[in-house]
Amino acid sequence: MKFKAIRKEAVILDPAREMQPRTIPVEVRSDPLTGRTARICHFMRLQWKKPDLDQLIAGTEANCPFCPDKVLKATPCFPPDIEPEGRFFRDDKVLFPNLAPYDGLGAVATLGSRHYIPMTAIEPERIAGGISLALDFFRRLQALKHAESVYHLISWNYMPASGSSLIHPHLQVFATSTPPNQLRQELQAGESYWKSHRRTYWDDLVAAEKEEGRRFLGEIGRVAWLAAYAPFGVAGDVVGVVGGCRSTLELTATDVVDIARGLTRAMAAYDAMGLYNFNVCFFPGTETDAHARLHLVFSPRTYFNPALGTPDAAALRSLYNESVCMAFPEEIAERVRKQFG
Ligand SMILES: [Zn+2]
Repeated sequence: MKFKAIRKEAVILDPAREMQPRTIPVEVRSDPLTGRTARICHFMRLQWKKPDLDQLIAGTEANCPFCPDKVLKATPCFPPDIEPEGRFFRDDKVLFPNLAPYDGLGAVATLGSRHYIPMTAIEPERIAGGISLALDFFRRLQALKHAESVYHLISWNYMPASGSSLIHPHLQVFATSTPPNQLRQELQAGESYWKSHRRTYWDDLVAAEKEEGRRFLGEIGRVAWLAAYAPFGVAGDVVGVVGGCRSTLELTATDVVDIARGLTRAMAAYDAMGLYNFNVCFFPGTETDAHARLHLVFSPRTYFNPALGTPDAAALRSLYNESVCMAFPEEIAERVRKQFG
């Protein structure tokens, strides 16, 4: 396991110090699996000021299609060959087809009837219920031997800086035979690693991170939690690796609860930094992919300029697919680990 980094320095004549030279460090890290690089730079104290969230959400309930008085009128239904009732239900959570699908079988699952839930008030039971509802949908597709029932993907955009257009908490749920870029590259690299080492990369990563220690956050059941070495997010990422589990359909009820508990701990840690938006993605293999381990990435999001609504992903991230993290992941891990203790 190689944790590669190229260290560089930029020298500027600093206008804030009468044009005296100032040296600014930059580190280019490579993800040990795919070689994808991430810049550790633009160093700042990871502390943001939260806006008045009550003011931000005020009035958004009126037109929310996921609120209980509208959800059964405003959302579409599946054709009867997929679900005769049209939608899937679990307690007050509803799963229905995505009105704006990006694959043959896209769905959205609400996380219940509450319109706005502050990040630290989202209960693990609620998250576990949402994931279980997604699993109900995936298991139906699997039973139907649906052609898209290959990779079972769950993602979560929470609050506007994450790309979510709605405040009401919901998951994006889709099954596809066409894995998205990052998943496909990880699976290909994981297969190469398997062929040359006869071991699963993710098992080796967890063992290496546990030994190295500085990015290891803890374990909940068979889910190991790490701070990413080469993160996607400006404030780092939290990665959960489900030991012994290759595909989403292999998740047990206990795994689902353990994933939910880990996610709420990550949320609590980033809330303490003043962050209140995040993305989550699941990265599964198929059930026959010996080289795959189901893992998920929690990545906090923010605005570079909240007054202008400037997102934290600009040309570098959007078109060069190069991420920028504004603190050392090891230092971020120190703060996040307190919640996993
Ligand atoms: Zn709502």
